[in-house]
Amino acid sequence: MQSKSKKRVLKGKEHKRAGKHANNKARLAAGRHLKKHAAKKSSHRSPSRTREKYNAFLGKQREEASRREEMLSNISKISNSVENKMLLKYISTNVGSRSGDILRALIKEPKTDDDIANILSVKVNDVRRMLNVMNGYSIVKYEVNKDSKGWLVFKWRIDRERLEDFVGELEKVPLQEDRQLPSECNDFFICKKCYPEQKTVLPFDSAYESDFSCGSCGKPYAMLNKEETIALFNETVTED
Ligand SMILES: [Zn+2]
Repeated sequence: MQSKSKKRVLKGKEHKRAGKHANNKARLAAGRHLKKHAAKKSSHRSPSRTREKYNAFLGKQREEASRREEMLSNISKISNSVENKMLLKYISTNVGSRSGDILRALIKEPKTDDDIANILSVKVNDVRRMLNVMNGYSIVKYEVNKDSKGWLVFKWRIDRERLEDFVGELEKVPLQEDRQLPSECNDFFICKKCYPEQKTVLPFDSAYESDFSCGSCGKPYAMLNKEETIALFNETVTED
């Protein structure tokens, strides 16, 4: 009994010693390791320097997150304006039946007229005509960039603030029969051939910019006075 318990004690001591030994070994190894790298790392490892770096890292992350958030909120604001029913009705009547799709194509990023034409399967001349009219409203604008070969590339983008203002103006105007016509304009232009499909009526300025001929078929525009234009709209409305 006695020897057994002694043995057990010894065993414990041995164990303890062995453990101590292992700990010492590890400590020594760690010491060697630290010594080996101390020269290299000591300047970087100071706590204040580490905190500084970590804070810079956090700052960058936060900056990027807020940039991403701003971009997403920008896209969702543009998207809300583009899907505004009054806007879509207005531009479908005054710019062209696919003008809403053109704006939709520009919600996320700027694009060239060729890109838009390809995406929507619309003739590039039609796309250009509609972009020019909407540029006249200031709701789209273009920017010029150089591509990798040095060519100038015109990319169209939505002007978010102008678009919001434009939608705001449309919503402010009470529902009148001539609410879709600019009040200062008395001469309006349509292409008789394309109107039934495109429902495009141009105010004087836009017609002037297109040299008074249709961007789709090349025919000269027909001129309408305000009453005729309103009558045409009412026709269109009852057709719907
Ligand atoms: Zn035409």
